[in-house]
Amino acid sequence: MKYFYDLHIHSDLSPCGNEEMTPNNIVNMACIKGLNIISVTDHNTTENLPAIMELCEEMNIKAIPGIEVTTKEEVHVLCYFKELENAMKFGKIIYESLPDISNNPSIFGQQNIYNSKDEIIGALKKLLINATMYSLKELWTLAEKYHGVTVPAHINKKSNSLLGTLGFIPYDMEINFVEIYKNTTLNNKLIENLILFKNSDAHMLIDISEAVNFIELKNIEDIYEYLKIV
Ligand SMILES: [Zn+2]
Ligand SMILES: [Zn+2]
Repeated sequence: MKYFYDLHIHSDLSPCGNEEMTPNNIVNMACIKGLNIISVTDHNTTENLPAIMELCEEMNIKAIPGIEVTTKEEVHVLCYFKELENAMKFGKIIYESLPDISNNPSIFGQQNIYNSKDEIIGALKKLLINATMYSLKELWTLAEKYHGVTVPAHINKKSNSLLGTLGFIPYDMEINFVEIYKNTTLNNKLIENLILFKNSDAHMLIDISEAVNFIELKNIEDIYEYLKIV
């Protein structure tokens, strides 16, 4: 069966996420668009995942606990987990490793944490767009420890990407998946043995993917095996 996905969506917690990106709005929009599998991947935090997971369960959408981490090299890497608990532990370590620089709400807005009723229950102080202390390899190792998989994000973007920043795909790490940014051209040789994801990287509701990109699975529960996060 085809399961339509969008595995890269930002909530209002991300500094660049629009304030309309509340858990209910995101999950309802995913439902309207006909998506079966989604992941909310905020920058360097997982604090909005409990609300997202709860709402997705109610709406019968499979939510993969995720995060978009900025490595020491300023490369964005998506990390996905099977268990929310592991994602939350991982997210806390990532947040802790951010430099002690406060968010300036007048520039980036509040970095809001929500419950499943879309009530604001807190805000994160440290600016989430900064780089963590983890190198790409260290991040990969840390994610493995929490049974997570790392997927380099928007690898063909000029900035904050594997190819834009490093210029190559490191083969000393087991990278099976990469995310491709829209329809920008890419040297196919570099990615010939990899599985490609096309996500929205939505920061506004309207940008969440339509039901276009899909993964073929026998059963939706096979998504973890597919992602190698069993
Ligand atoms: Zn990014
Ligand atoms: Zn992103």
